[in-house]
Order: sequence, then structure tokens, then C-alpha cells
Amino acid sequence: MNTLIALVVLGVLALVSYKVRIVTKSGVVTAYMLGICIWLLASWTWFLLMLLFFFVTAQFTHYKYKIKRRHGAAQEKGGARDWSHVLANGGLPLVFVIISFLLTALSSPTIGYGASELGAVPLPLPISSNFFAAFLGALATVIAELPIMSIFFAAFLGALATATADTLATEIGLLNPSPPRLITKPWKVVPPGTSGGVSLAGELATILGTLLIGGFAALLAAPFWISLIGVNLMPKLIQFAPVTMILVTAVGGITGCTVDSLFGATIQGMWQCNVCQKQTEKRKHCGEPAKYLRGTRFFDNHMVNVISCLIGAVMAGALYFFLLTLGIA
Ligand SMILES: [Zn+2]
Repeated sequence: MNTLIALVVLGVLALVSYKVRIVTKSGVVTAYMLGICIWLLASWTWFLLMLLFFFVTAQFTHYKYKIKRRHGAAQEKGGARDWSHVLANGGLPLVFVIISFLLTALSSPTIGYGASELGAVPLPLPISSNFFAAFLGALATVIAELPIMSIFFAAFLGALATATADTLATEIGLLNPSPPRLITKPWKVVPPGTSGGVSLAGELATILGTLLIGGFAALLAAPFWISLIGVNLMPKLIQFAPVTMILVTAVGGITGCTVDSLFGATIQGMWQCNVCQKQTEKRKHCGEPAKYLRGTRFFDNHMVNVISCLIGAVMAGALYFFLLTLGIA
């Protein structure tokens, strides 16, 4: 039943977002599969957070699109995201969902993931009397002691907050009245849209982005849903105080975004458009391959995004675990 609802809801969402050109054809197919996995392996509440991210960032990309196009810094294809955008932002959260699913199932094979949405799903582990089984058994004993799903949910929020805040900072930062300054050399003014450039509007947007994700997660985790509609919206295995959720998400997201700017100002690869001559952090601009300028070729825009999100996620997960050991999570 849950699977059927997931397929239908996602189908409708996919159709709408394709029609209003938030995503390209490759983007919508990738997003659909990503959404199904997150919904079924984690829960629909995790999926809802992912959805919030996609819609918020799409909204801001369209916002004042024409002004930004004059700067040459707007997203190509009218702002529609293709598969690489979807994976660069949603791939890491998906990895956390999969690891969390496997570890939770491993640590409680009798109830499996039953504490969440899928009902009792014992993981089909190849248990036999060999070393592998002994290893899995030992691992299961260790992780059974840990709040695995809460830790990975914190990491999931950290990654999502970094991606959201980074997009908002880029989009809103472009509208700052004065040009940005380089994060590594604050005395140096750089043209709007330069990687590693920071501005007051951009920094405020970063904080807003993290609070948006953290606040929504806290709302979904709020205890009043039980008295209000009789159900807990979060999977039972996720037990953090809503305030902790906001704090962990904000710290993770702000850390991730700062790292993103630092990479942008230092080792990120830069290209120059052969059509409009603008400098860009993308390999392609104006629909044409751009000319390599400086930085590390391997560290293109997407790679920097993925690593920044990973750092934001680790920060959020670690902070949650730290607060938990202090007994204040
Ligand atoms: Zn161009």
C-alpha cells in the first residue's frame, strides 16, 4: 500500500515538475527514482524534506532569472535541472538513507526495518556458520547500541541543508547591492557570481536555507502530532528533540557552505565561456564547452558541491552524536 502511494504521489509530482520546467527529462527520471528509494527505504517524512529542498531551490533559481542572466551567472536551460544536478544534490542523502536502512536492518534482524514504514522486513542476510556471519553478528551487536537512524538522519539533514543553503546563497547573493568579497581575501572585491565570493545577502541566505530545512524537520518531529492526529510523523527510531534538530542542521549546513566557498576561492576548477567570455565554475556555458582557465579540473562545480555536502553531513552527524553523549540531544 505504501509502495503504491509512493509511486502515485511521485508520479504526479514528476509530471508537474516536468510540465513547469523545473527539471529536464533526464532530471525528472533521476529525481523519480531517487524519491522512490528515499520514501521506501527511509520514510515519507525524509522524502518530504528532499522535496522541500528541490522546490525551494527551483523557486529561487527562477526568481529574477532575467536579471541574473544579464550577469551571465544564471543556470542554463532556463533554470531547469538535469540528472547531474539531481544526483549532485540528492545522491549523498540517498547514500545515507541506504546505509541507515542496511545498518538498522542488520542491528535488529527480527524486526528489520519494521520500526519504520515498510513493516517487518528482515534483511535476507547470508547467515551461515562462517567468518562472514560472525563478522556481521559482531557488527550488529556494536551498532545495536548506537542510535543509527538518528545519526544518519542528522547527516541527511546536514547534507540537505548544505545543498539548500548553497543554492540560496548563490541565487540571493547575486542580488546583493554591492559586489561580493573573496572569502580567503576579504579585502578583495570580486564580480558577482565569482566562486568563493561572499556577501552579506549571501550569508543571510545561507542561514535562512539551513533554518528552512532544520525548521521543517523539527516541525515534522514535533510531539504535538501525536495528540493532534494520533500518529508520529517521524519513524520511531528517530528520537531527537526538535530544537536539537534545528541546531544540528544549521551548524552542518553553515559549515558545508563555508567549505564550499573556501573550495570556490582556492582549488575549484574555473572555465571561461567561449561564447560570452564570462568566467564560470562549469565545464559548459551558453550550451558550449568552456575553455579551462585555472584550479583543479577534477574539482568542478558538482564535485565541490558533493564534498561540501559530505562535510556538512559529517558535521551534523558528529554534533548530534556529541550532544547525545552529553545527554542533551
Ligand atoms: Zn557563456
